[in-house]
Amino acid sequence: MISFNVPPCVGTELKYIKEAIESHKICGDGAFTKKCNAWLEERFQAQKVLLTTSGTTALDMAALLCELEEGDEVILPSYTFSSTATSAVLGGAKLVFVDIRPDTMNIDETKIEAAITERTKAIIAVHYAGVACEMDTITEIAKKHHLLVIEDAAQGVMSTYKGRALGTIGDFGCYSFHETKNYSMGEGGALVINNPEYNERAEILREKGTNRSKFFRGQVDKYTWVDFGDSYLPSELNAAYLWAQLCAADEINENRMASWKLYYEELKELGEEGKIQLPVIPKDCVHNAHMFYIKCKDLEERTRFIAYLKEEGIMAVFHYIPLHSAPAGLKYGRFAGEDIYTTAESERLVRLPMYYGLEPETVKFICEKIKAFYH
Ligand SMILES: *Cc1c(COP(=O)(O)O)cnc(C)c1O
Repeated sequence: MISFNVPPCVGTELKYIKEAIESHKICGDGAFTKKCNAWLEERFQAQKVLLTTSGTTALDMAALLCELEEGDEVILPSYTFSSTATSAVLGGAKLVFVDIRPDTMNIDETKIEAAITERTKAIIAVHYAGVACEMDTITEIAKKHHLLVIEDAAQGVMSTYKGRALGTIGDFGCYSFHETKNYSMGEGGALVINNPEYNERAEILREKGTNRSKFFRGQVDKYTWVDFGDSYLPSELNAAYLWAQLCAADEINENRMASWKLYYEELKELGEEGKIQLPVIPKDCVHNAHMFYIKCKDLEERTRFIAYLKEEGIMAVFHYIPLHSAPAGLKYGRFAGEDIYTTAESERLVRLPMYYGLEPETVKFICEKIKAFYH
């Protein structure tokens, strides 16, 4: 069976994990966490990056830092992972779902303004498949209406929009290092803080409500409980795994990109014949080959297609059931405007196997089978 995903492993992970163990420092914020934070800050020109226990908790932190309250509204796409929504719900905010664009599956920036009310507090932009949302428009709308912008860049590590790293454009950016993402630490993530005014509150929030980070920097002579907080520090064992991956970030990126391009090349003809639809990358976006998806004609064809691939030994999967139609989505949110593309496009999309180390021969084999299905 050809797996849909294989967790990335470059070979140096054990060496660094061993180092962490031998240093007798395996809890959070040790040498490896610091190295990962610094690497991400430097590489992405980010003001501040803090590793977290997951992409979900990075989103939770962002939502808490926005101080969302009961009755506030948050605008987001319905076509996304539950984490995007559940973080906003933490503070009691109401979810307002906006339709997506059919080309990138990202929130349709032209429909955001109509969804804004006097209760709107934030916009969450999800960069689906590591392809950027139209951030200039979103940033402009946010400025005009005094809204905060959270980028769910869980899938967008190493992607850019007009040359800027995803996650560094809004007020907050959230990365995921889950085993299904391009760079991994098993479970983990990072919060990017782009406005320094939030640095101190973020450190307190992440360190159980204490000013421990300040204490370690020698800025206060004892540390104490100063505000509401939680524990979002990953262990050094996980950070050591991520460090190995970050050291090989370009290699991982190039390897995935080669698979992505090969898929595209092999399937181009089917796309030109109108049998399937291939992904679209807008000209301002450099993506990270997080995902290779195609779109079938409709739900019925997709169901047959996935079953056919499975019989041929290929695991392909579809993605999110739109949140506005899910039980919790109905409870916490509403759809603003018309669902023209969210449901229809999500029913057509299939993700093909994509991981670091996927062999070109395997990609070619998968594409041969896809061509056979359509001819
Ligand atoms: C993976 C993912 C998350 C959650 O990340 P975890 O690290 O699994 O918590 C959030 N949003 C999107 C769009 C994702 O793909």
